[in-house]
Amino acid sequence: MSSASSPLRVAIIGSGPSAFYAADFLFKQTDWDVEIDMFERLPTPFGLVRGGVAPDHPKIKSVIKAYERTASHANFRFYGNVTFGRDITRADIQAHYHAVIYAVGAQTDRQMGIPGEDLPGSHAATEFVGWYNGHPDFRDLEFDLSQERVVVIGNGNVATDVARMLARTPDELYQTDIAPHALDALSRSNIKEIIVLGRRGPVQAKFTNSELKELGEMADAAIIVDLAELKLDPLSEEFLLSGEDRIAERNYQTLTRFSEQPDQHRARKIVMRFLRSPVELIGTDRVEAIRVVKNEICERAHFLSPCPTEDFETYPAGLVFRSIGYQGVPLPGVSFDAERSIIPNEQGRVVTENGEVIRGEYAVGWIKRGPSGIIGTNKPDAQETTTLVLEDVAAGNLLAPAKPARSAVEHMLKQRGTRYVTYEDWQILDRIEIERGQAIGRPRLKFTRVDDMLAAIDAHKRERLAEPAHLAAR
Ligand code: NAP
Repeated sequence: MSSASSPLRVAIIGSGPSAFYAADFLFKQTDWDVEIDMFERLPTPFGLVRGGVAPDHPKIKSVIKAYERTASHANFRFYGNVTFGRDITRADIQAHYHAVIYAVGAQTDRQMGIPGEDLPGSHAATEFVGWYNGHPDFRDLEFDLSQERVVVIGNGNVATDVARMLARTPDELYQTDIAPHALDALSRSNIKEIIVLGRRGPVQAKFTNSELKELGEMADAAIIVDLAELKLDPLSEEFLLSGEDRIAERNYQTLTRFSEQPDQHRARKIVMRFLRSPVELIGTDRVEAIRVVKNEICERAHFLSPCPTEDFETYPAGLVFRSIGYQGVPLPGVSFDAERSIIPNEQGRVVTENGEVIRGEYAVGWIKRGPSGIIGTNKPDAQETTTLVLEDVAAGNLLAPAKPARSAVEHMLKQRGTRYVTYEDWQILDRIEIERGQAIGRPRLKFTRVDDMLAAIDAHKRERLAEPAHLAAR
């Protein structure tokens, strides 16, 4: 079936880490000749590495180098600015590919389901993250940074990202690739206190060690942890002493160290509060306060859960970020498990609601397993899925497309007037962003609107065409 003249054609929907790891595994095997077409809704690739990883974490973003190597494979094509379900449908995929891998991540946020959750001033952390990273969907949002106190709900790494970005000084932010509008707004922020709220105790927090430690290393923000809140209930203590969870042990040590720090005179403070669940956001026209119930840890179905007590507290706060996890959304025409917010699958093979395997369809990353793990978690995940793709190739269990040619897909997109962005186009944009940034001593100045991105690519191409041939060829 697969040879240089009739290669195995695979479409990947999405271009984040799991998409690139899947592409890499398929290119690295030597049994089949594979062509990969990667479709992405935005003109820019790399998913959450560009739009999610915090701007002050440039090292994490360096994984892009590996994705660039994958993209340089002769059989790789990127089609940016192409929306699945609108510009290309599931039926189109079936007509042009032997297999499709959905790698669309988890594109929305989870809800708490409490009164006042939707009041102005209450935002999903995912929106704030998209905003400061210059994601076109979020760049026009507004956050009232004139407030003095903000509450970040959740004890995961996104909550630490949000707390850091709110606590950084203008100088610290300037060194990053934070989007210009967010740099401007955060540099004028009036925020003095950032409360990070966990519904369970310090032992159950989901922070990774380095992310928690970093909260104590801010240039002009103090970290406050009340020693009394680190006193463990018997269940948490037993769990910690079992040595089962090294990350929790180290986090607990870090929090203890934070609690012992003498008063620091800093412009801002990050206050960590545990065992408190939001029960209501209070306010008339906008959030004015958050009411929480104090919890105790209890065991429910072998799980250390937050159980409410009769004690309540209210914190005045004009801004709230709900950082309680991402959530997957359905793709038009594609199987979906609404309860788990994932594409139902067996180790990556997409199945129907009744559990029957759907030929030629696969899932990787967060839309396969839910929004958990760090970037590297997507590597074994993608390996698992692509191993099944290859098993199905060997067994002849893939789709039989009527038009298995790259030219046919490009013809179709052009006929529909879809202005797709190639990988070479993206490289132009990437260079322009870096050059614009370097000109003002920053690592990158991002484009944050799709129209501006397309216009910049077009303008660059026009300039190249106008150049004398010997210059344009360089
Ligand atoms: P997360 O790690 O799943 O954390 C979600 C937090 O929200 C948990 O503390 C959870 O508490 C809490 N929560 C859930 N529902 C709640 C409710 N109704 N009320 C109050 N609290 C609630 O999610 P995330 O922070 O969005 O991160 C997503 C993934 O991306 C994670 O795997 C994370 O490690 C990764 N990530 C990594 C980095 C990095 O490596 N630097 C940066 C950002 C994100 P319970 O534990 O009690 O459920």
